[in-house]
Formats: sequence, C-alpha cells, structure tokens
Amino acid sequence: MHAVAVKRRMQAVAPAPERAQIAGLAQATRKYGALVALDGIDLAIRAGEVLAVLGPNGAGKTTAISLLLGLQRPDGGSAELFGMDPASLPARRRVGAMLQAAAVPETLNVGELIQLFASYYPHPRSVSECAALAGVEDLLGRRYGKLSGGQQRRVQFALALVGNPEILFLDEPTTGLDISAREIMWKTIRALVEQGCAVVLTTHYLEEAEALADRVCVIAKGRIIAAGSVAAIRARVAQKHIRCRSALPLETIACWPYVRSAVRDGEHVTIVTDAAEAVVRKLMDADPDLAELEIRRAGLAEAFVEITRDAEGAGEESGSRE
Ligand code: ATP
Repeated sequence: MHAVAVKRRMQAVAPAPERAQIAGLAQATRKYGALVALDGIDLAIRAGEVLAVLGPNGAGKTTAISLLLGLQRPDGGSAELFGMDPASLPARRRVGAMLQAAAVPETLNVGELIQLFASYYPHPRSVSECAALAGVEDLLGRRYGKLSGGQQRRVQFALALVGNPEILFLDEPTTGLDISAREIMWKTIRALVEQGCAVVLTTHYLEEAEALADRVCVIAKGRIIAAGSVAAIRARVAQKHIRCRSALPLETIACWPYVRSAVRDGEHVTIVTDAAEAVVRKLMDADPDLAELEIRRAGLAEAFVEITRDAEGAGEESGSRE
C-alpha cells in the first residue's frame, strides 16, 4: 500500500517527459562566399510542438529552414529530418512548407492547384479539408495569379497542409494577412499541433510567437543567442513595468536609481525598471496618494529587443561576420 502511495506521489511530481526529436541541426554552418550565414547552430524540432525561430533581418532564420528542408546543404555540421537526409524523397514527403518566396503555377485555379499538390503525396488531405483549414473555400474557383498578395499567402498555407505533414515549416506566414486570416491560421496551427504535428515558425510578430510557441530560439548573426520556453526567455530579462496613478513629476521619478524610463499618460505613470521593488518603495515614500499600482514582467517583445541588443554589442566588440 505504502509503496503504491509513494509511487503515485512520485508520478504526480515527475516532470512531463520531453517529446521525441524528429528533426534538427547539429553544429550546422552555412556560408555564402565570405559571409557566414549560420555559424555552428544546434536546433531540435520535437513532435507536437511549435518552435518559433526569431531574430533580426539577416540573422539566418530562412537559411536554417532551408537546411532543414534539404533546399541547401550545410557547409559544416549536419541537418536531419526524421533521421534521414532532408533532401531525400521519403523525408520530404512528410513535411509541408510555406516559404517567403513561393513558386506556384499562376494559371491554375486554387482547387486545381491543391489537387496538383495533393498528387505529390502518398496520403494527401482532400481539397475541401485543406480549403477549410486555410479558410480559402471562397477562392477555390479563382485563378491563383489574379489573387491579392494576402489571398495568395492563404492559398500557400493550404498547399503546405495538403500532404498531411508531420512537420510544418512556416516562414513568416502571417506577413500581409488581415486579422481574420491570421486568426484562422493561428487556430489551424493550434489544431494541427494538438494532433501531433510539429511546427517551425519564423516571425517578426513577437505576439505571434508568444501566442503559439512552446519553445523559442533567438538567432542573431548566425548564432543562437537564446533558447527555451517563452516564459524562460522572458525571465532572462529583469526589466519590469510599473504602472500607477500618481501626481509625482516625471523629472523626479526619472532621476531615481534603477529607473530606465518614465512616461505619463493622463493621471497614470509607466516606469520601466530593472529593480521594481526598490522603485515601488521610493514611489510609496514619495507619494502618499499613490494608487492603482501594477507591476508587469517584460513581454517577449521587450526580452527580444534586450537579448538581440546585447548580441549586437558583443558582435561589435568581437568583429563582423565576414
Ligand atoms: P529575414 O528576417 O530578413 O528574412 P533571415 O534571418 O531569414 O532574415 P537569411 O535569409 O537566412 O536571414 O540570411 C542570412 C544571411 O545570409 C543574410 O546576411 C543574407 O544576406 C545572406 N544570404 C541569404 N541567402 C543568400 C544567398 N543566396 N546568397 C548570398 N547571401 C545570402
């Protein structure tokens, strides 16, 4: 009896087992002439997880995805997809991709296009299922080349889903989409992940990464500078935001130690600080009428700005990538 109770208690506190890795890069390097686009990066993609790959323009995100898709070969290190060469047909048949530059025949209508792409895969989704998942039912009879940019992106999403992929690569998928199209895409991504599909997402919309990602990897200048859960990345930044109702002059607050910035909107003041407790104590001492006090941890966007700024500084000290 006792042993069973102890075992049950241990099961209750045991951390969730890590999901199986199904693709990844190991010490992968990719150069374009003298430019080192990727400088020995490790990346693990796990089943049923959204991995957001973030980084400033030119960081190496698209290059990393190209290696994982077998569109380019690493110059050093390795890339693998389901334990195979990413360029091999059996591996490619198990992935779907929506890249920034899409080569899609413009003269076909959307229904014909989905059917054509379905013919490349052994277990494709039906045209109607793809159309419903991507929210393009109303576009099925329209010629692809005549669609707007946002409509074409939605069709490209439908095409990425057609092969029933186990990994979906989405390179800035919501750029140019309206709010309702973005909501449909987010809902579909969540549903696919629920069914066990892995998603690798690059985006410059940090709220998108925050809303969807299980794990985040931040690349700058071809190197991984931060990786972990959204919460872990946010926690790397000590910065907090204090908001309160106070009549204290901004000039007074701005001079206090640990205050990075102070902004007023009407009766409220927002203070950015690395030492929230010390600043709150100062506020309470200085303003007996202080009210509506709120303290908020930095969001992913603020963490990202800070982490990449640190990396830029380090890069400047140690020289350029070329
Ligand atoms: P963005 O956010 O702007 O899409 P990214 O993080 O996806 O950027 P990459 O497209 O991977 O960045 O580019 C990484 C670096 O490699 C950049 O400096 C880019 O100019 C360079 N690069 C990418 N493709 C090529 C190529 N075919 N030939 C030469 N240089 C390239």
